[in-house]
Amino acid sequence: MKKIIISVSLSITAIAFTAILVFVILPAYYNKPAITFTVEYRAQENGSLEGNTSQNVELAKKATPVTAIPNYGYKFVKWSDGVTDNPRVDKDITMNIDVTAEFEMITKSFILKDANATSFLTKKEITLSYFDTTLPVPQRVNSVFDGWYLEKDYKTQSYNIRVSDKDGTIVIDNATLINNNSPNLYAKFSLIEEAKYNILMVYTTKVDAKFKLRPDSYQYGFGQDGIREIKYTMPEVDKQICHLLTAYLEDLLNAMFAGLVEFNVDEYFTVLPVTEDCFDYSLYSVVGYDYSLNAYNIPEISEDMLSNYQSVLTTVDLGDKDYAVLHLAAGCAHAKYGCIYWDRCIDIYKHSGNEILEWFTNPEDPAYEDSWLELLESYVHELTHTIEMQTCVLAKMPYTYHDVLSFYDSETSFKLFGNRFEHLGIAYLYLLRQMEYNGKVYGLPYDFWLGKRGEEIWESDR
Ligand SMILES: [Zn+2]
Repeated sequence: MKKIIISVSLSITAIAFTAILVFVILPAYYNKPAITFTVEYRAQENGSLEGNTSQNVELAKKATPVTAIPNYGYKFVKWSDGVTDNPRVDKDITMNIDVTAEFEMITKSFILKDANATSFLTKKEITLSYFDTTLPVPQRVNSVFDGWYLEKDYKTQSYNIRVSDKDGTIVIDNATLINNNSPNLYAKFSLIEEAKYNILMVYTTKVDAKFKLRPDSYQYGFGQDGIREIKYTMPEVDKQICHLLTAYLEDLLNAMFAGLVEFNVDEYFTVLPVTEDCFDYSLYSVVGYDYSLNAYNIPEISEDMLSNYQSVLTTVDLGDKDYAVLHLAAGCAHAKYGCIYWDRCIDIYKHSGNEILEWFTNPEDPAYEDSWLELLESYVHELTHTIEMQTCVLAKMPYTYHDVLSFYDSETSFKLFGNRFEHLGIAYLYLLRQMEYNGKVYGLPYDFWLGKRGEEIWESDR
C-alpha cells in the first residue's frame, strides 16, 4: 500500500515537470535570440593583420582565421594571450576575445674577427638589424682595411661574401646578412709594406766543455774543485723533437701575428762538439754561473749564415741533472741571440724523450697540449727578449718585458712561470705595443717589424 502511494506521488511530480519543460522552458530557450561573443584582433605597431579583425561568433562556434603580418625587419612573436599560432583560428568560443599580435625586431649578434686590428679593441661583438647601414671600421698598423666579410677560409686565406666596404657601409642585403649561418664577421686588411722576420733555431747535438763554477758553489753541495766537465750527446729522439719544434714555432708565430708579420723559422743541427768557448760566461745567478750558448761563438756557424736572421735561438741540453750549478733560467737572451736550456724549461728529467715526442706528435690531444705549449712558450719568451734587446740596447731604453709580466703577477693569478696560455698572450700584446697598464702603453713599436731599429722608433716613449 505504501509503495503505491509513493508511485502515484512520483508520477504526479514527473507529469508536472514534463509540463513545465514542454510548455515553459523549451519555448523560452528556442525563441530567445542566439548567444554571441565579440572577437577582436589587434596588431602592435611594426605589423598588421590579414582577415576579419572584428567578428561576432555564436556560442561554441569558431572564428575565421586571422594572420599577423610583421613589417619588414620584424617577426611575429605571439598573441597577447600567449597563443603562438599564426594564422590564428579561435574555436569553441565561450567568451569574448580581445588579443593583440606582438612583433619584435629581427636581430643577430656577430663576433667581429678583427684580424689583429691594432685599434678598435673594445668591442668584439655587434648586434645587427635590417635597419643598420654601417659597421665599425677597424684600424691596423701598416694595413689598409678592405671591408668586412661573412666567410674566411683559413687555409687559403681567402674571403667570401663581402658585407661592407672599406668605410664600413653595409653593401649586402640585410636579410641575407642576418639569415646566414656564420656567427662571425671577418675584417680583411692588406699590408702596405711587407713585414718578414727570419729566425734561426740552432740545436746543439754535442757538448764537450769544462765550466768554471762560482767559488762558493760548494755551499750548495756542488764540490770545491771549481770546474764542472760536461760531455753530452743529444739522443736521436731529442733531434726529432727539435725538428718538430721548428715547425710548431713557425706555425704558432704565424697564427699569433696573422696578417701583421710573416715568420720564417729555419733550423741548424750542430755537427762538431761545442766547447766552453762557445758559451757566454756572463750572467751571475744565485747558485752558480749562467752559461749561455751563443750561436755567434760557434765556429761552424758562419757570420754569413747568421746575417740572414734577425733572431737566433740556440737550444742546449747539458745533460746536467743538477741544472742549477750552471744556469738558473730556462733561457737567456742578448740582442738577437737567445739560448734555451732544455734541462730546466721542460723538466727534462721528469719526462723521457719518448714522452716528449709523444706530446709533439699529438698536438691536438688536450692531454699533451699544456706540455708542448710550455716548451714552445719558453722559445717565444726568449725570442721576445732578443727582439726587445735589439731595440732597447740600441735606443738605450729600459727592458720592460719582465715588468709587463710582473703587472700580471700582481693583478691576476698569473705567475711568470705559471699559465703558459696567458704568457703567450702577454708576449703578443707586448710585441705589438698593445700592452696597457696604469694608463701607460708598453711594448715594441711596430716599426721594428718593418726593419727599423734604434732611437727613432721609440719617439712616442720620450
Ligand atoms: Zn725572461
